[in-house]
Amino acid sequence: MVIGIGDDAAVLRPRAGEDVVVSTDAMVEGVHFRFENQSCRNIGRRALVANLSDLAAMAARPLGFTLALAAPAELSLRRVDDLLAGLLIEAAEYACPLVGGNVSAARETSLTLTVIGAVARGRALTRGGARAGDRLCVTGRLGAAALALAKTARTGARIRQLPTPRLHAGAVLARISAVTACIDISDGLLADAGHLLASRGLAASIDRAAVPRPARFAAACARLAIDPDRLLLEGGEDYELLFAVRGATPSISTLRRRLGIEVSEIGRVVPAGAAAGDSVAPGWRHF
Ligand SMILES: [Mg+2]
Repeated sequence: MVIGIGDDAAVLRPRAGEDVVVSTDAMVEGVHFRFENQSCRNIGRRALVANLSDLAAMAARPLGFTLALAAPAELSLRRVDDLLAGLLIEAAEYACPLVGGNVSAARETSLTLTVIGAVARGRALTRGGARAGDRLCVTGRLGAAALALAKTARTGARIRQLPTPRLHAGAVLARISAVTACIDISDGLLADAGHLLASRGLAASIDRAAVPRPARFAAACARLAIDPDRLLLEGGEDYELLFAVRGATPSISTLRRRLGIEVSEIGRVVPAGAAAGDSVAPGWRHF
């Protein structure tokens, strides 16, 4: 950051030989969050995590972010302070300073963030390179965010769960030549696999049993009378990375060691037509 808050605009300076990576995302009260469901601090943290996750999926390192906050006049200063405090916790954690923003009146509260990052020139990890036969892998575990949301809906318990943006993992994946495509899972595994593959005439065959889940997940789902598969396959906001790997190497254990986190192989990329056929083992979900 060369010039931060206080001038007409911020000035950021990537290193020589880097590309600039930009992403923006809005979190709207009543659509993406409710004040009754979680603390303002958690809402703020989640807003930056969601945006940092998009940088992670591109293998970019954060440079800074801007915030456009819209809120009704009656939103208390306490809530505004807590939202900001949450944002700044994650900003400090991931070296992504708040470099500017604005505040405006609105009917409901929303936080629109724009994150700016940098990646070695031409080295951004994209959604674009998958081919039939590639292995599909995910970082971490899925379903925790959807389970927390379901629990809140049923019991009124506040959401404390918070995902982790996989910035380090994304940066490492970009240096592995066998990794052909990557996306962060914000909308749910099936939806985001579709975003990764559908426009290329491809589909995913996913082994449900191999989809990594939190400890005691089945029991927690049973208590809430929820189908665990639905949360695993369709639940959003886990912000793990879904990526395609060409060939048998690197192995899952090598990927785990290099990324420093859990990695699981959950299926394969197949031609869109083939996913409807019988060539795929039973228990695999086709779409
Ligand atoms: Mg994304």
